[in-house]
Amino acid sequence: MSSTRVLVLNSGSSSVKYQLLDMRDERRLATGLVERIGERVSRFRHTPLHGGGPRERTGPIADHEAALKMVAEELAADGLGLDSPELAAIGHRVVHGGKRFTAPTVIDDAVLAEIERLIPVAPLHNPANLAGIRTTLALRPDLPQVAVFDTAFHTTMPESAARYAIDVETADEHRIRRYGFHGTSHAYVSRMTAGLLGKDPSEVNVIVLHLGNGASASAVRGGKCVDTSMGLTPLEGLVMGTRSGDMDPAVIFHLMRVGGMSADEIDTLLNKRSGLIGLCGDNDMREIRRRIDGGDERARLAFDIYIHRLKKYIGAYYAVLGRVDAVAFTAGVGENAAPVREAAVAGLEGLGLAIDGELNAARGDGPRLVSPEHARVAVAVVPTDEELEIATQTYALVGKNS
Ligand code: ADP
Repeated sequence: MSSTRVLVLNSGSSSVKYQLLDMRDERRLATGLVERIGERVSRFRHTPLHGGGPRERTGPIADHEAALKMVAEELAADGLGLDSPELAAIGHRVVHGGKRFTAPTVIDDAVLAEIERLIPVAPLHNPANLAGIRTTLALRPDLPQVAVFDTAFHTTMPESAARYAIDVETADEHRIRRYGFHGTSHAYVSRMTAGLLGKDPSEVNVIVLHLGNGASASAVRGGKCVDTSMGLTPLEGLVMGTRSGDMDPAVIFHLMRVGGMSADEIDTLLNKRSGLIGLCGDNDMREIRRRIDGGDERARLAFDIYIHRLKKYIGAYYAVLGRVDAVAFTAGVGENAAPVREAAVAGLEGLGLAIDGELNAARGDGPRLVSPEHARVAVAVVPTDEELEIATQTYALVGKNS
């Protein structure tokens, strides 16, 4: 029997998301989510393609090991268990791969040790990713398991973009450099955008704007990332749902010396209580637009600050690339918020960028163009699919041998 299925696992700090895909037709055979792991009431929702609607459970789930054992049980109940011969591999999302992991990698002891070594630069994410990997390795030690890194797509950035202008010895000692995140999405969306233009990725330059709750921009030349807005951590760059993005780093010293705040308090302020939520109390773009329509000035200002930063990055990456074939919007805000796309591109006609109001306002599921027909630079909406990209990369690495 041929093995054509890939289980994709995304183990977050308190959640596990998963999808089982059949790579013959990229169909989802099952999807699910375990939330609030380690809290008093955890939630588990499993949705098989066949066999009725979603199944839900609530109750305490102590840790990632318990969560993944439950996932394995639910899959087995649908005849899709981890012991099924059709399962070719498990693909794990791993947030931080440092400089070393430039591509998806089959997991062995050395790879585990390296992901562990990177914990100081990804203290929230890599331990959760490791817990997921260790559990599934214990359940199926013989099955190929692949780490797909959020940082990998950005490892092609030249040193001029990846290095901060700080003392080189200090930076190297503490592995301080710009790594970038959301790489799986930037890779997928830039490739799909080339497809939408009927071209090979090697022929096109694309600015990708991944605007979800977390948000990042990337400049992709001929299929390779040459710059991205997130840095050592996901805090740098665009204004996000709850993160500040770019800021004078001296704000931090000021808050310490004058505001009397600790490093942990400032970390929480900048990562959880800044960005849109810090500016206006809401981080959901739908709610912000409703408030703007009702005349709310704070929501308006938050939106304007968000757009101003976005425009700056479009301009900066235009200059980095020299020639731009397309600007692609993706993720929750980028795919759904027509006013964000319109405002981000407004006034950039001189750069060949324009939006067709009707196309932009129309809803659609797949990748689509929202620029006028003869625009010099295409503006595209390209739904991201990180799970499919992880499954595709995993299967490309191990599928041929199974
Ligand atoms: P993440 O994966 O970073 O959690 P998503 O890519 O799912 O985020 O994006 C979530 C965000 O997308 C929400 O916070 C909200 O601001 C925005 N969003 C979702 N749907 C819409 C919509 N229909 N219109 C405008 N914004 C939306």
